[in-house]
Amino acid sequence: MRQVDHFIAGGAAGSAPRTHKIWNPSTGEVQAEVPLGDAALLQKAVEAAKAVQPEWAATNPQRRARVMFEFKRLVENEKQALAELLSSEHGKVVDDAHGDVQRGLEVIEYACGIPQALKGEYTQGAGPGIDVYSMRQPLGIGAGITPFNFPAMIPMWMFGMAIAAGNAFILKPSERDPSVPVRLAQLFLEAGAPEGLLQVVHGDKEMVDAIIDNADIAAISFVGSSDIAQYIYSRGTANGKRVQAFGGAKNHGIVMPDADLDQVVNDLAGAAFGSAGERCMALPVVVPVGEQTADNLREKLIPAIHALRVGVATDKDAHYGPVVTPEHKSRIEQWIDTAEKEGAEVVIDGRGFSLQGHENGFFVGPTLLDRVTPKMESYREEIFGPVLQIVRAKDFEEAVRLPSEHQYGNGVAIFTRNGHAAREFAHRVNVGMVGINVPIPVPVSYHSFGGWKRSGFGDTDQYGQEGLRFWTKAKKVTQRWPDGMADADNKDAFIIPTMG
Ligand code: NAD
Repeated sequence: MRQVDHFIAGGAAGSAPRTHKIWNPSTGEVQAEVPLGDAALLQKAVEAAKAVQPEWAATNPQRRARVMFEFKRLVENEKQALAELLSSEHGKVVDDAHGDVQRGLEVIEYACGIPQALKGEYTQGAGPGIDVYSMRQPLGIGAGITPFNFPAMIPMWMFGMAIAAGNAFILKPSERDPSVPVRLAQLFLEAGAPEGLLQVVHGDKEMVDAIIDNADIAAISFVGSSDIAQYIYSRGTANGKRVQAFGGAKNHGIVMPDADLDQVVNDLAGAAFGSAGERCMALPVVVPVGEQTADNLREKLIPAIHALRVGVATDKDAHYGPVVTPEHKSRIEQWIDTAEKEGAEVVIDGRGFSLQGHENGFFVGPTLLDRVTPKMESYREEIFGPVLQIVRAKDFEEAVRLPSEHQYGNGVAIFTRNGHAAREFAHRVNVGMVGINVPIPVPVSYHSFGGWKRSGFGDTDQYGQEGLRFWTKAKKVTQRWPDGMADADNKDAFIIPTMG
């Protein structure tokens, strides 16, 4: 069986006593194994990172950028193979896996501009003969802990920014689809990075705890579910680390009575069911405003959902593939059971779905639930599957309130032709990322990404200038170059200096 290995100091680290199986979700077969590392293994990576980071930080930013440019070229050359490998472990269709790689590369492109992005600030003559300047310096060793659902994009978001800023980086990817992260680290080495600058350690809670407790790791970026995000944020910050931790989501799509419903149905189908709903920026809740809008929308949604093609990850015509593991399949089906018991109307039922010829694959049929209410547990919690819930709002105020009061605040979208309503909604809604007639509002790489409430713990976002702030610390220098001898009797020296 194929063995995935750690990537430490530029090479493999050998076997481990504990391993985790990697499925092929389309066939239901185990296709590989990944070792689960421990604190001793992490320490090897930390030592390699310590050996190389100071020199990397002292390398001028233009040279650091050259490694980023070369890495981008290498990833682009290998994009098809990376997408196929990613899709075989995750289950998302190959075209969607291309998007996973591409959205990560866009942050690498931003990181290619590191000489410009890292320029500091300077004030000449802040006082008599005094200049002040500030610069941003790297933290040292950073770590990233990533989820299964974007095994290329999210690691690149993190290490692209961290390494360009002068840090060494240790990545702990999801144990469910770890092969692409390892390949990315190999390509980074090939691009000219020194051994030990970007390393990959595999593992589960034991490895994550070792990362949180390692005194040499200065900062942790986490993306995954909210309870674990909160745990990592609390324990990491208690250990004196800088931590940003992004959690789960339940994004709402508000449909105003004046919206173009054909366009909305098209957008919703992709945003709710693409990647089998396993996206933190999916739209699993639709909120039509008014009963008439709800009825019209439902009427158009039903045939559109019936027309969706579920297929194996390599099926070029499939809209989406299997979910990641058999446990996840049964969890999604249990959520549909719960919703039904709570009183939701199961309009289209994806439970018990089986794909002919691939009966052992982890497929869940597209599901539509109507008359879902805010009190239902199936509404309050994240399902992370191909399940769309209709929550009917009586008016605009209720439509603003629903996402604003939900425990998650990652993304939200409003569909309308009314600029005033859209503007009002964008300003008032208590959610981190807003789309106006844009169903998946993941900001471009030169803005930044991050949700609110239980979708994001910490103060800074991913990538863009916010990401750079997370991976660096500000140093402020006040300088004076006197041209004569000091005045021995200068009483002013005893008074707090002001620039007055
Ligand atoms: P997960 O929380 O199960 O795993 C994330 C990471 O945490 C993995 O590397 C995993 O090995 C590690 N981990 C798992 N259990 C742990 C434990 N008990 N202690 C310490 N570490 C542990 O998440 P997942 O299932 O891989 O990913 C899906 C989740 O990620 C969803 O909730 C989704 O909304 C969220 N997500 C959020 C964003 C965002 O930006 N907010 C982006 C993508 C995914």
